[in-house]
Amino acid sequence: MSAYREGERVVVLIPDRFSRAEETEWVARMLERLAAREERIRRTDSELLGRARRLISRYLPDYAEYIVPASVRWVTNQNGRWGSCTPDDATIRISHRIQEMPDWVIDYVLLHELTHLVVPSHNAEFWELVNRFPRAERARGYLEGISAATGLVLADD
Ligand SMILES: [Zn+2]
Repeated sequence: MSAYREGERVVVLIPDRFSRAEETEWVARMLERLAAREERIRRTDSELLGRARRLISRYLPDYAEYIVPASVRWVTNQNGRWGSCTPDDATIRISHRIQEMPDWVIDYVLLHELTHLVVPSHNAEFWELVNRFPRAERARGYLEGISAATGLVLADD
């Protein structure tokens, strides 16, 4: 089975023997896969850095001079965490596990890590800054739900 774009259309190839119900189910599944693949391609390291800059100017403009990330990149070797930040060298790594999640979830994780460049620990000041992001609470709930569903224990820092 495969799916690909042909101009404006998406072509999904499935076996002849499939019933109507199977066809409906598999076409939906293949379209989802294609969309996920396209998202992955769209979400590059340079896109991530641009996203970081937008988040800083939108939510942390008063700290912009302290938040100058040296690098912001996607990593695949970080299975225990959604993202991490090393304040000493101002580097931020975001797990590929969230690469296909909605934009606002990626924004939350990234803003969380960027905020660590101002406040390294999870104290009250830190949460006050992170909660400037309107969907912070919802994003934490979303990530907790994924952790529960996959059985993975993933810290958010
Ligand atoms: Zn953290």
